[in-house]
Amino acid sequence: MRDKTKMIHGGITGDDRTGAVSVPIYQVSTYKQDGVGNLRDGYEYSRTGNPTRHALETVIRDLENGEAGFAFGSGMAAITSVMMLFETGDHIVMTDDVYGGSYRLVANVLNRFNLGHTFADTSDPAKVEAAIQDNTKALFIETPTNPLLKITDLKKMKEIADRHDLLLIVDNTFATPYWQKPLDFGADIVLHSATKYIGGHSDVVSGLVVVNTAELAEKLHFIQNSAGAVLGPQDSWLLMRGIKTLALRMEAIEENAKKLVQFLTKHPQVSKVYYPGLEDHPGHETAKKQAGGFGGMISFDVGSGEMADKLLERVNYFILAESLGAVESLISVPAKMTHASIPAGRRNELGITDGLIRISAGIEDAEDLIDDLKQALE
Ligand SMILES: *Cc1c(COP(=O)(O)O)cnc(C)c1O
Repeated sequence: MRDKTKMIHGGITGDDRTGAVSVPIYQVSTYKQDGVGNLRDGYEYSRTGNPTRHALETVIRDLENGEAGFAFGSGMAAITSVMMLFETGDHIVMTDDVYGGSYRLVANVLNRFNLGHTFADTSDPAKVEAAIQDNTKALFIETPTNPLLKITDLKKMKEIADRHDLLLIVDNTFATPYWQKPLDFGADIVLHSATKYIGGHSDVVSGLVVVNTAELAEKLHFIQNSAGAVLGPQDSWLLMRGIKTLALRMEAIEENAKKLVQFLTKHPQVSKVYYPGLEDHPGHETAKKQAGGFGGMISFDVGSGEMADKLLERVNYFILAESLGAVESLISVPAKMTHASIPAGRRNELGITDGLIRISAGIEDAEDLIDDLKQALE
């Protein structure tokens, strides 16, 4: 089955009993047993398993070509649950311009449990090698990164992971399985903030994980059930609904993103545009090799915080908001919003300046989006 078909017919579809074409929302906490321990369909309590959540977990498994899928109450709940695979004294190497929440989790929460970490520029394999210690257990990669859209070579990360016997974990939120399938490149775990493109309509907070072996599946299910950060049935259903149009949305978003990039690169007020689809982007060739598309995220520098503020005040269609990956175009200033939890010194080191603006292209008419930016930049 190809991806566009999987999004409609993959996983578990409909309801055998009634013929309903949409998976029912099993809004239920517990299940009647026909005698002690005699379960009708394997379900006993909805933290452990719920049919609506299971249908979602099956379709994301199919889309990522993995062994098993898991749905969590947020992207951070998904990442936290994956981190619980490690033990105190272990160490992980993480992409340096990783999502701010992931940075905060390892730097300010998991450090208290003595899970060590080193941030490294994973777009440079030599820097990843240099960050590995005797107790390193995993590489945690984001590609493209947020907000500078740096690209990490998945094949090279797999080689390093194999050489040092590390788990390769990829946050695939920006690319989605429609454009990029990390497990096909040998990653062990792929995860998503499904709040973003997979949900796609700015109406649900959620996280998804897919693992590539039965052993990891058993361990993660144990953690999911023990820690209990599960996604509810209603939100699981919303994600399945989102997945049905994921291909269409990703195509439309990328088309708009390319037109916006074309406009921005020519504009005199814009000093730099970050987009992996640009030929002069350092990760362009790698992105072309490992992903089917370049995505809908664009960052550009307008030179100063004041310029950025003015632009944000004037745009009409771009909604000033955190988050990304929705049908509506969103705009933000990473230094003051998504990446505010990263210390200023570190932000400047990474290139996340006060004048850096991030756009998440939506599916509106591209001409309206361009006109909007044009009047705001003038
Ligand atoms: C938003 C985001 C997260 C966190 O997900 P939530 O659903 O907000 O908890 C993790 N990684 C990336 C790349 C994100 O964009």
